[in-house]
Amino acid sequence: MLELLDNPVPWPNGARCAASITFDMDTDSALHLSHADAYKRVAALSWLRYDEVAVPRIVKLFNHYHIKGTFFVPGWCAERYPATVETIVASEHELAYHGYLHENPMDQTREGERYWLERSIEAIERLSGKRPAGGRAPYYNYSPHSTGLLAQAGFVYDSSLMADSQPYVMRAPEGEVIELPTDWAMDDWPQYAHSPDFRYLMPTRAPDKAMEIFMAEFEAAYECGGLWVTVWHPFVTGRLARLAEVAKMIEAMQNRGGVWFATMEEIALHVQRCIADGSYTPRVVSMPYYEEPIPELTEGFPAGLELRKPSG
Ligand SMILES: [Zn+2]
Repeated sequence: MLELLDNPVPWPNGARCAASITFDMDTDSALHLSHADAYKRVAALSWLRYDEVAVPRIVKLFNHYHIKGTFFVPGWCAERYPATVETIVASEHELAYHGYLHENPMDQTREGERYWLERSIEAIERLSGKRPAGGRAPYYNYSPHSTGLLAQAGFVYDSSLMADSQPYVMRAPEGEVIELPTDWAMDDWPQYAHSPDFRYLMPTRAPDKAMEIFMAEFEAAYECGGLWVTVWHPFVTGRLARLAEVAKMIEAMQNRGGVWFATMEEIALHVQRCIADGSYTPRVVSMPYYEEPIPELTEGFPAGLELRKPSG
């Protein structure tokens, strides 16, 4: 059999792969920055506030199958919906950083990104008594400043990026952060979301069809010794028909054996230990990729020779 991963992580107890079911508990945070009149959009708010029903249901599902999950929660959501978030904390699932009001990190100054990062960490710590160990950028919009800021905040990991199928190290002048990468194929939004208010008009897929995509990724991770990280949302995947498929999926994975279900923090700490003892040598990527637009776009050219942007 062709080995597609040259350098798999040695997972605990000889597991074939690591699996982390993660949920981004955005609730209505993003809507308020997207629309000044968000407070009046009751139907859109109701779609997003399904989180209040879905999160306890997901916690019940995790507890039933004795697995721990990770919830990426904007700081504002922790402050606005403490009872919902407390159901996560009470069952000792992981709370992780996901912006403050689901702001786009690329739109913030470096100081702004730092301020809202710290404010979000405080909100999560107030509720759970524990600083988050990692995070995922809202909209995956990790900025050129993010690695340095996350390293300075003491984060062990990030899970916003997609540059590999296994953990890698991001190195910035300020320090290092382990990336636990995922991919759009693992996100429930392209499968299920239909939201006029977010200008996302797509036909929703049947749950068994969506699961085919997630499970194809799982089969490959299982075969290759990889990492399988979902990016789901309580108000999207926490609905009855979809979560029923997730329950079937967990049963199938548990019956298979050799799957290490873990939180993102557990996976990151394991990878950190493997790096320290030499049993895993990760790829190291210098961040950010770019500090400014590439010079080919900004250096002077004789009139008429500039590279043109696509029109339209
Ligand atoms: Zn989000």
